[in-house]
Amino acid sequence: MNQGRPDAIVIGAGVSGLTTAICLAEAGVRVVIWTAEPTEETTSMAAGAMWGPYHVEPLDRVQAWGAATLDILRRLTDEPDTGVRLVSGIEAAREPVDPPAWGDQLDGFRMCAAGELPPGFAAGWRYTAPLVDMPTYLGYLRRRLSATGGQIERRRVTALTEAVAEAPVVVNCTGIGARDLVPDPDLFPVRGQLVVVENPGLTEFFSEDTGSSPDLLHYYPHGDNLVLGGTAQPDLWRREPDPETAAAIVHRCAEVEPRLRNARIVAHRVGLRPTRGQVRVERHDMHGVCVVHNYGHGGAGVTLSWGCAADAAAFTIAALTYCKPQ
Ligand SMILES: Cc1cc2nc3c(=O)[nH]c(=O)nc-3n(C[C@H](O)[C@H](O)[C@H](O)COP(=O)(O)OP(=O)(O)OC[C@H]3O[C@@H](n4cnc5c(N)ncnc54)[C@H](O)[C@@H]3O)c2cc1C
Repeated sequence: MNQGRPDAIVIGAGVSGLTTAICLAEAGVRVVIWTAEPTEETTSMAAGAMWGPYHVEPLDRVQAWGAATLDILRRLTDEPDTGVRLVSGIEAAREPVDPPAWGDQLDGFRMCAAGELPPGFAAGWRYTAPLVDMPTYLGYLRRRLSATGGQIERRRVTALTEAVAEAPVVVNCTGIGARDLVPDPDLFPVRGQLVVVENPGLTEFFSEDTGSSPDLLHYYPHGDNLVLGGTAQPDLWRREPDPETAAAIVHRCAEVEPRLRNARIVAHRVGLRPTRGQVRVERHDMHGVCVVHNYGHGGAGVTLSWGCAADAAAFTIAALTYCKPQ
């Protein structure tokens, strides 16, 4: 495929761009991805990544996007080498709080008895959800795209008009990059830092409902490794890991699970959650050319990925049908 002019250029090779490009390529659209960074350096690579539509709006569309993605992620657990598994565990809070409204979409969702919770926790709920090992999953997405002829090129775009000149439809999946590219001043980074340690043998996840605190607490088992979190620091752009923050993350997790106290650190991860009042998935006509936006997923980009990609692909295909030939 892709001899000559593509039908669509997708900008961005994180989870949003790859998933959207796959939906397009599998529908027969000639698609090429342009990306400033390799997938390994995206925010998507840094994610934990557990299904859960936390703190994202608009609620009605988020519910549909999340449900569509949940369905596909569940099916991917049956395929080898996707990096998606179903994992059970507990989310808990130190104050009495209600469980999330979307809990009943998850297998085995139930409230915990007091004896199941770690010391100091007042409420909790147990469930089984898709947990995604992002390095493996993003590799799977790239292979799946390439199997349909979709290509990825390293290219930083300084203005959307650059891409608009080279394909009838441009799909903007640039994560936090959309702030300058669109431009969109409503989009801001929420910095997340994680620590990857050797897994001392844990098979279940644990996550604290920390409300609006910038200090998160969770651990996710990925086979030999465990991903410890984390932070949610608004308006912080620093992409280098901070050693003191890493030590604090390990300390918080070890207070709940003492086996983590001396766990060997394997890697540090940092990403900038592209955060906005509302996730933006819509068609926008730019000087007569069709741009489809798919960005602003905050801390739920993996959770919403297939649902948003399906909508973005549908807008793109409709635009290809009705756009003026250039
Ligand atoms: C620590 C952490 C933990 C997380 N945990 C979870 C979780 O458990 N569950 C969940 O669902 N989500 C989680 N998230 C959120 C999730 O990672 C993001 O919502 C998601 O990765 C956003 O993906 P994206 O593809 O839109 O953006 P990105 O992954 O940031 O990709 C953007 C792409 O656009 C490209 N780009 C940007 N600007 C330009 C330009 N000008 N020209 C060309 N290319 C450009 C970049 O190079 C990149 O390829 C977490 C995030 C962090 C940081």
